Amino acid sequence: MVDPSVPPSMEPFPLSEELEDAGPGANGSGAGSEQFPTLSPPKTVSFQAEESILYISEDEAKDAFIQFATNKCCYRTAPAKHMVVRSLAVMNTYRYQLQTFTESRSTLPASEPYRGGFVDSPETAVPPGPWDVAVNPPPLFADCEMHLPVPHTYRVQGCPSCSGAGWTSCGTCGGCGMRTCIFCGGSGRCANGDDLYSHCLHCNGSGWIRCFSCHGEGQVPCARCDMKGLLLFHSEMTITW
Ligand SMILES: [Zn+2]
Ligand SMILES: [Zn+2]
Ligand SMILES: [Zn+2]
Repeated sequence: MVDPSVPPSMEPFPLSEELEDAGPGANGSGAGSEQFPTLSPPKTVSFQAEESILYISEDEAKDAFIQFATNKCCYRTAPAKHMVVRSLAVMNTYRYQLQTFTESRSTLPASEPYRGGFVDSPETAVPPGPWDVAVNPPPLFADCEMHLPVPHTYRVQGCPSCSGAGWTSCGTCGGCGMRTCIFCGGSGRCANGDDLYSHCLHCNGSGWIRCFSCHGEGQVPCARCDMKGLLLFHSEMTITW
């Protein structure tokens, strides 16, 4: 069915694919619509070839109609099964799919604990603009997301979570190092056998026990700066296709 006047590498893609799919089940499957011609320009097919490909029997047309109705969740197949075919007319149909492919870029500040070493700051070189950063784009029409640090945007600052101290106040005890005794509820007394108001042995009657989270220190290591007190900030660029 390839037009002999067209070289093999340039055979008419869209129309010939459509015509080959003209058998049963082709109309409703949508499988052919996934392919999208990117480079081949549409070529014409001779009328003679077109006509011979498009001719199908009445049973084939009926089967294709039933297959089409089956693939649609809300369609009933009864009309397709019981229909009376009065005539079959040859006509061209064209199916096409519109797709967009865009690229967006945005930057957000990111940070990590600073452990010393070279800092690629704006003093080193002028930071590039969002569209000056060269990246290899994914294949056309493929959804993709990429994160990459923008060069020359690094700077060292004190950790805002611990104010540069490397330690933060314990969230469990509020920084006091003690918490209410969970055995006596802070009363200092608890049920012990028949004696309902005996001395609480866990807190020694004080109603307070040492905080498990900070071991009574009232402070815990700062997780954000890994106790360094300094953070290395930079601009993180997100590219979405
Ligand atoms: Zn604590
Ligand atoms: Zn207690
Ligand atoms: Zn910190």
